[in-house]
Amino acid sequence: MRNMFARGAQSTGISNYCGLRKMTKIEAGSNLRRLVMLEEPVKYNALTKHHVKDLAAIVSADRLSTGESVLDLHAKDQSHHKPIRPEVVIWPQQAAEVAAILRYANEHLIPVTGWGAGSSLEGNPIPVAKGIVLDFTRMNRILEIREGDFQADLEPGVIYQDLNDRLRHSGLFFPPDPGARSTIGGMIANNASGTRTVYYGSTKDYVLRLSVALANGEIIELGTRASKTSSGYDLIRLFVGSEGTLGIVVGATVRLVGLPVEFSAAIATFPTIDAAGKTVFEIIRSGLNPATLELLGPECIELMNREENLDLDLSPTLFMEFHGTTTSQLAEVLEMAEEICNTQGCLKFEPGVGRTERDRIFKARHGLGEMILRNHPDCGILIMDVAVPITAYSELIATMKAEMAETNLACYYLSHAGNGNVHLNIAGKKGDTQEWNLIDQIVQRLVQKTLDLGGTATGEHGIGLGKRKFMVAEHGTSLDWMKKVKTLFDPNAILNPGKIFP
Ligand SMILES: Cc1cc2nc3c(=O)[nH]c(=O)nc-3n(C[C@H](O)[C@H](O)[C@H](O)COP(=O)(O)OP(=O)(O)OC[C@H]3O[C@@H](n4cnc5c(N)ncnc54)[C@H](O)[C@@H]3O)c2cc1C
Repeated sequence: MRNMFARGAQSTGISNYCGLRKMTKIEAGSNLRRLVMLEEPVKYNALTKHHVKDLAAIVSADRLSTGESVLDLHAKDQSHHKPIRPEVVIWPQQAAEVAAILRYANEHLIPVTGWGAGSSLEGNPIPVAKGIVLDFTRMNRILEIREGDFQADLEPGVIYQDLNDRLRHSGLFFPPDPGARSTIGGMIANNASGTRTVYYGSTKDYVLRLSVALANGEIIELGTRASKTSSGYDLIRLFVGSEGTLGIVVGATVRLVGLPVEFSAAIATFPTIDAAGKTVFEIIRSGLNPATLELLGPECIELMNREENLDLDLSPTLFMEFHGTTTSQLAEVLEMAEEICNTQGCLKFEPGVGRTERDRIFKARHGLGEMILRNHPDCGILIMDVAVPITAYSELIATMKAEMAETNLACYYLSHAGNGNVHLNIAGKKGDTQEWNLIDQIVQRLVQKTLDLGGTATGEHGIGLGKRKFMVAEHGTSLDWMKKVKTLFDPNAILNPGKIFP
């Protein structure tokens, strides 16, 4: 097992689990009848007309489709991973419908994959074993907002920006912000986070209660409406980040927070990305507590200027934002931030960025993924997402820079720097096997370096398909316990097969 207090990771040689389930001879009738003993490949049943007819009897006929274009739309997310079509797409509207579909699929050994907005970046919702996709876009009601308790009850298909629009006049908001128009169910499944996570935390910090439909069709209620609890195992944290492999979220109570009373933002540019990286550590260490601390390479700034009509200097750049209660307090914070930036050789520090300018910059920042794609029409884009402890941040950035300098590949640095979370987007020509092999080798080395620095192979995009190969190196023997948990909740391995486990 990897000793998390020592540098370096070890492989434990855990056996292949993709598409495998554990079998036992224990009597039928028990929910655990297939627990432990042998591992064998799951032979899922292909969907027949008969299955489709049965499933159509659970939901109304207009909420089920086997149409080619619908299957195509549910074959791929926003990653470079190969599309695979499901056999049927179903739009449930009630928790009971989800439970009935799962019960049926479990009995007939048909894979089921949850689908929010399909905005994942690691192939997380691609139905690699085909079967059923459950699309939650029509189960999207905001059931109740309890302003006094700072809570909202939601169906899984609620888009988080729509929730924040509804909350606009209440003085409250839901902070996790992955940027794409993602659903609460997808955010919970991926434990999504974003530009504000350094201050507000990620999705896992906002889930108070969950209703989960299990593979056997049972619905369980987890958590409490109290703002704290010490009651028993924290099963909510088990489901958050499980990528729909343990159960399907059919309802959630999320925590809300008050909108900041005052806000200030600044832009700082640096001669090198290394200097910007060192500044990130100094700002976090100083206790200034930024609400956002983003680092962008000049190649990103160039795209943002061109596509969003901005006029930012073409240098490695830090965007920082602070939230507080008075303008004088924030002015002091900005002064201290400027001092820190200057110590690291800052080229220009622009304080007092207003809300309109800030919104324009962040709109461009959130659009960067698509801009990069548009600018490389004949390429696929590999999006690396790693995170390290903040003390190791500048070393990771320097290593990436040195590694990429050895190649002619187009690459873009964009980083939720305050969390030590780096995205390196690398463009590789479609169909150029040699180039993609090179990209794979680079990623392999950089992820290993990240693990050696005490970090993780994914800061926010999840494991999906792309990061499975690093699970042994990152988790060692605890991966075996993850498998046991998976087998306990989903003994027939029908839920989002082929994900997480190498
Ligand atoms: C331009 C762009 C920028 C992005 N930036 C960020 C970022 O800053 N931070 C970040 O964290 N992510 C980011 N992402 C990735 C993505 O938006 C998030 O991972 C998001 O949480 C996915 O939500 P979704 O609704 O699209 O879910 P999907 O992609 O549809 O599904 C995600 C996973 O959840 C499962 N799932 C869906 N619904 C349910 C359910 N009800 N119950 C159980 N499982 C379910 C799926 O099977 C899949 O495994 C970005 C994506 C894009 C395209």
